[in-house]
Amino acid sequence: MSPHAARRTLTVLTTGLTAGAVVLGVLAAVPASAREQGRYSTKTPTSTGYGGAVTSVDPEATRAGMRVLKAGGNAVDAAVATAAALGVTEPYSAGIGGGGYFLYYDAKTRKVSSLDGRETAPKRMPDDAFIDPATGEPYPFTPDLVTSGVSVGTPGTLATWEAATRRWGTRSLAQNLAPAEKLARRGFVVDRTFRQQTADNEARFRQFPATARQYLPGGELPRVGSVFRNRDLAATYRLIQRRGIGAFYGGKVAREIARAVQDPPTVRDPSLPVPPGYLTTRDLADYRVALQKPSRMKYRGYSVYGMAPSSSGGSTVGEALNILERYDVGELSRTQALHLYLEASALAFADRAEYVGDPAYVRVPLRDLLSNRFAAERACGIDPAQAATKPVEPGDVRDYDGRCSTPGAREAGPTSDTENVDTTNLTVADRWGNVVEYTLTIEQTGGSGITVPGRGFLLNNELTDFSTVYDPADPNRIQPGKRPRSSMSPTIVLRGGKPFLALGSPGGSTIITTVLQMLVNRIDLGMSLPRAIAAPRAAQRNTATVTAEPAFIDRYDAGLSALGHDLVPAGDAFTSAAEIGAATAIEFGPRGKLTVVSEPSRRGGGSALVLRKRR
Ligand code: GLU
Repeated sequence: MSPHAARRTLTVLTTGLTAGAVVLGVLAAVPASAREQGRYSTKTPTSTGYGGAVTSVDPEATRAGMRVLKAGGNAVDAAVATAAALGVTEPYSAGIGGGGYFLYYDAKTRKVSSLDGRETAPKRMPDDAFIDPATGEPYPFTPDLVTSGVSVGTPGTLATWEAATRRWGTRSLAQNLAPAEKLARRGFVVDRTFRQQTADNEARFRQFPATARQYLPGGELPRVGSVFRNRDLAATYRLIQRRGIGAFYGGKVAREIARAVQDPPTVRDPSLPVPPGYLTTRDLADYRVALQKPSRMKYRGYSVYGMAPSSSGGSTVGEALNILERYDVGELSRTQALHLYLEASALAFADRAEYVGDPAYVRVPLRDLLSNRFAAERACGIDPAQAATKPVEPGDVRDYDGRCSTPGAREAGPTSDTENVDTTNLTVADRWGNVVEYTLTIEQTGGSGITVPGRGFLLNNELTDFSTVYDPADPNRIQPGKRPRSSMSPTIVLRGGKPFLALGSPGGSTIITTVLQMLVNRIDLGMSLPRAIAAPRAAQRNTATVTAEPAFIDRYDAGLSALGHDLVPAGDAFTSAAEIGAATAIEFGPRGKLTVVSEPSRRGGGSALVLRKRR
């Protein structure tokens, strides 16, 4: 992931002016500090108030959602509008070429529901799809698998917007797409982060004429301060507004998507192989969002709702919380509390690897993974004085009684982690008390790199979330039609049946640790919500080392390394940013008070707005 400052965009752009003239106008209108950073919208990382709220990584997207709330739409309408705007301003993180998970609390019924809008593997995808037929060897992960047709799953995002709007919204999908359509048409002002993300992708974007045309306008990286328009995406949104999502999942657009996957339109540069994929128009026609029961567990009197599989979010966050509940975390020293947090997370990740996949294809023992007795037995693996050697073994869901016994000889499951760290997250509440927590993605920054020619959006490379080495015993092995295991963890916490907290984050498998850490920070360590989000992060995903932000290392390394934790700075081959996650959250206080939070600095800071400052 490259750092993602939100695209600070301009609200009022006069389309008749040239880009240069517009920019001059903008520069005169914005504060010098914002101008210097290429930011053109006011950033408000935290707001408190009443009557409804939207928080996302991007000011323009947050504003799109606010506009819908103001016009009388509910949280679902506003969430769809925000997500559609993120498809414009965060096109490398999310959009209609991808998928995601939508969690919804309905104030009237007091019920939490979820939509699984994850991408699916094409029906014709063979289990050896990740083996190069030319060599008989697995494709290298980068660049071959990452920039390929073979990793493109059937997109679920648009079907998710449609299903959410139809079920729970109060306006039409066409109305909810309107602010984003306008934004794509009018454009937004490029900041340094957008330019940097494009630069990170430049070499592979150049391989795809349609991608280069859209994202390297005039053959160049977009200039900071210039206006970036996506007329093709605006036209695609208009088409969907007029004809519904059938115009995407069928007809000409579907044919174009299938063609782009099966025969990626490249300049045929041999340095970038771009293996073709299997997606057909049939896959698109058959795509269905799954309305499913969310995962649910109790933590210190709160009810924690999350995504059930195909995401591993709900089960892994929930299991780790169950393990932590054995301890009085709030009474411990910070080092001890963090030690437990890291150890509980490693144990839950071991079980994630062993047991979690798409439940339509493999039996996932969700009830066991979220049982207190199972957690009690897993907690036996924690030594308060010493970090366990990683990877730790998974537990046995067929044989547990909640008591500590000599550990069996189960082998540790796979721990290699190829999930990238991009994606985006948003949280919305409305005046009626409905809440949406939504995480969506096209997988890595820039997805597969393939833009559907003339349509303005990038296709995902989500199928890289399948285990890349095929093993028939692996719940996350490739199977045709299956959803690859996700880590996305939109979470809604209720107290006494009413919302207390809604939160989520991007970050590949660090999504799970980020959500877990924020919950521990808020519930156990008594931090305010803004502090719980800003606090430095660390992720233990059952690996030998703990990935941590520099501030976390500065603060806690001495204590934690004495217990045997090996902290290494965050950042990977795809990113120079030593950050973990980019969260958004809302806390629900007494008498309708909302505390609405986004990141103060990660990804350049987000935007959290309320409808009214006062009651
Ligand atoms: N593909 C990841 C998942 O589903 C999300 C991508 C990311 O956050 O980087 O968990």
